[in-house]
Amino acid sequence: MSTPTPEKHDVLLSTQIVIEQALKKLGYSDSMVELLKEPMRILTVRIPVRMDDGNTRVFTGYRAQHNDAVGPTKGGVRFHPDVNEHEVKALSIWMSLKCGIADLPYGGGKGGVICDPRKMSFRELELLSRGYVRAVSQIVGPNKDIPAPDVMTNSQIMAWMMDEYSRIREFDSPGFITGKPLVLGGSRGRETATARGVAIMIHEALRTKGIELKGARVVVQGFGNAGSYLAKFMHDAGAVVIGISDVNGALYNKEGLDIPDLLDKRDSFGTVTNLFKTTISNEELLELDCDVLVPAAIENQITEMNAPKIKARIIVEAANGPTTLEATRIVTERGILLIPDVLASAGGVIVSYFEWVQNNQGYYWSEEEVDTKLEWMMRKGFRQVYELHQSRGVNMRLAAYMSGVRKMAEAVRFRGWV
Ligand code: GLU
Repeated sequence: MSTPTPEKHDVLLSTQIVIEQALKKLGYSDSMVELLKEPMRILTVRIPVRMDDGNTRVFTGYRAQHNDAVGPTKGGVRFHPDVNEHEVKALSIWMSLKCGIADLPYGGGKGGVICDPRKMSFRELELLSRGYVRAVSQIVGPNKDIPAPDVMTNSQIMAWMMDEYSRIREFDSPGFITGKPLVLGGSRGRETATARGVAIMIHEALRTKGIELKGARVVVQGFGNAGSYLAKFMHDAGAVVIGISDVNGALYNKEGLDIPDLLDKRDSFGTVTNLFKTTISNEELLELDCDVLVPAAIENQITEMNAPKIKARIIVEAANGPTTLEATRIVTERGILLIPDVLASAGGVIVSYFEWVQNNQGYYWSEEEVDTKLEWMMRKGFRQVYELHQSRGVNMRLAAYMSGVRKMAEAVRFRGWV
């Protein structure tokens, strides 16, 4: 069951505070704030699944669509026990900001189902994925709202969802969802895209701080899609990954961990530390002395409690919402350079956009083409946000929100909604 978040760590409330600040700084009216501080639509669904033991279990799921002034909404679907309405709403707003920073022709959307896929069979997961699509099919579609993978959902789940949607509509609809397997119209480079984007942001942040990547000490919290590929990219580039973690615990070695070995042993949900004698706790991991700390798991990991103790010089948020507002203030004041989630983790949705374009064209690009375009867009995003941060004297999070919401607010205005 989902646990209620304490009010001050409520991701929706904190997102609304920064959205309002961003729109006000950009000179928009109260009505614009009123419109954009909540998703325009959220659908709650109940999904019955006949489990392997013969009993039917009813799952609760959501799909939130923040705003479609720019274009169809876009964003992942997460399968996690802590999914709740506020989280899905906040995540949909963050997707708008990512799309805005990257200048994609989308608004933000997000979905989630309250479940624990680690405790479900392959068959049960397939039924849940198909059931979710049937339940939300009225409000999604290639030109309406385009789902994708997120926490604990992967290309297999995207394949089932695409198949279910195509059956409902009675024509092949690869553009309905992104993050698909290559053979079903997936894009080369999508699997590694979020981590590639984060790695590019680490390069930029290190350059800003005058630190060499070779030999830089990196800590990665979370070993899912983003965290594990990122650890590999950092390791391959000559950085020293001194700490990693998963839900069970954390591993630390100040000389650097054997990342290729850990990747080999990791299961499909990113669990690996259970195979080792864990050396430190997840809390200790975040406070390690390092150059770059990458929270790549879930929300509210860096709070006012541990922010004063963080020793990293740079924090790059690969997860959505890992740092609370109060913690953002504390680390910023302490001179730590923070690359916020809506910028740092935009690589996933950028390559999802490429996938959707390729599906619409029926023409598929090389991995090199995907990676080159991704790199260009991520660097452009960084420059925009960093320039706003400097020219307007606002912290990196507010700068990212300003950069992310600007296009949407303009689209709303031109359409005459506000
Ligand atoms: N779930 C990813 C995110 O939070 C990717 C979304 C997408 O590709 O649409 O950015």
